[in-house]
Amino acid sequence: MKEKIWISPPHLSGNEINFVKDALDKNWITTQGDNVTGFEQDIQLYVGGKEQAVVVNSGTSALHLAMILLGVEKEDVVICQDLTFVATIDPVMYIGAEPVMVGSEPATWNISPVYLEEAIQSCIQRGKKPKVIIWVNLYGMPAQIQAIRDIAQKYEIALLEDAAESLGSSYAGKKCGAWGDISVLSFNGNKIITTSGGGALLSADPEYVRKARFLASQARDEAPWYQHSQIGYNYGMSNIIAGIGRAQMQVLPQRVEQRRRNNAFYRTQLSDIDGLRFQTEPSPEFYSNYWLTCVLIDPGKTGGITRDDIRKALEEENIESRPLWKPMHLQPVFAHCAYYGDRTEEELFQQGLCLPSGSALTDNDLQRITEVIKNCLIKK
Ligand SMILES: *Cc1c(COP(=O)(O)O)cnc(C)c1O
Repeated sequence: MKEKIWISPPHLSGNEINFVKDALDKNWITTQGDNVTGFEQDIQLYVGGKEQAVVVNSGTSALHLAMILLGVEKEDVVICQDLTFVATIDPVMYIGAEPVMVGSEPATWNISPVYLEEAIQSCIQRGKKPKVIIWVNLYGMPAQIQAIRDIAQKYEIALLEDAAESLGSSYAGKKCGAWGDISVLSFNGNKIITTSGGGALLSADPEYVRKARFLASQARDEAPWYQHSQIGYNYGMSNIIAGIGRAQMQVLPQRVEQRRRNNAFYRTQLSDIDGLRFQTEPSPEFYSNYWLTCVLIDPGKTGGITRDDIRKALEEENIESRPLWKPMHLQPVFAHCAYYGDRTEEELFQQGLCLPSGSALTDNDLQRITEVIKNCLIKK
C-alpha cells in the first residue's frame, strides 16, 4: 500500500517543545501564564488593526461566547451562512436561538449578499429582526465582505466573522479575523496552524474582550471569595497548549505560502481539463490562504465522470479527499430551519471536492495526486 496522503494533517515546526517545556518548568500549566499572553499578542500582531485576542479551548467555544456577547438570547433570529461546517451553527442552538440559513453566491461560495438582504427583510416582516449575521470565509476564501458590511450597517445588525478556516487570508488588504464586530479563529488539528485543539475570539471593542475573558473563566465577580452574579463557562486555553500555538505562529507566514503553493501546483497541472474548475479569488481584493484547495467536477462536461469517481480513485491510491461541507439546510438536524437562496450551494455540494492541501505536501505527493485525477478525466 502506498503511503497515506491526508487532506490537512497537523504540521509542527519543531519548536513547540521549547514553549511547552517552559510551561512545565515554570509550573504554569493551567489557563494563565506566559504562553497564553504571548500567544494572544502574537495573534493580535499578525491580524493587525485594533483587534485584541482572547484564546479559548476551541473555535466552537469562541463562537458560543461571541453569540452571548452580541446579545443573542433564546428565540432570537441569527442569520447564518448555509454552506459551512456545523460548528458555525451549533452555538446558535446552545442558546436556543433560531438559525436562518442563507445560501451561497457563486464567486466565493460564501453567503450571498442578495439572499442575505432578502432574509433580513423577511424576518423583519414577521416581527423578528435578526440579532446577528454570521458569515464564513470558506476554505480560506474571503466572502463578499464589503457587501455584507453594507447590509449589516443598513439594518443595524451585528456581524460575527467565522474566520476558523481563514487565518492568513485577507480582504481589501485587511486580514480575515479583523472584519467582524467579533471574529473567531480555530486551532483544531486540521486548520492552517494548530494547538491540537483551541480557538480565539477577536474584537476591537475592549468591552467585548473583557467580557469574553470573564465568561470564559467561570464569570467570577471581583470579591475575596467565589461570588457569581452571572453564568460562566470553563472555556480557557491551557498554558501548555498555548505554547504549541506560539511556535506555530512563528511559521504561519510559511504555512500560508506552502498552502498557496499547493494551490498553484494543482492549477498548473489541472487547469485545462474540461469540467474541472477551482474555487478562485474573484479579484485582487480577495487573498485566500487556500487552507484547502477545492475543485468542482461537472459531469456534464467530463463525459459523465463525477466528483465521487475521483474521490474513489484517490482513495484506491490511499489519498484522502472529501466532498465540500454538506449545506446546513440539507442536514436532518436543521431541516426545520428557514432557508433563503437559489440552491447554488447544493450544486457546489454535488460537484465539490477538497483535495489534499497540507503544508507539508511534497512535489512527489502533489504529482501522485494530480496523476490520479488526470487519469480519471483525460481520455487517452
Ligand atoms: C473548524 C471550524 C470551526 C470550529 O472550530 P473548533 O476549534 O474545531 O471548535 C468553526 N467553523 C468553521 C467554519 C470551521 O471550519
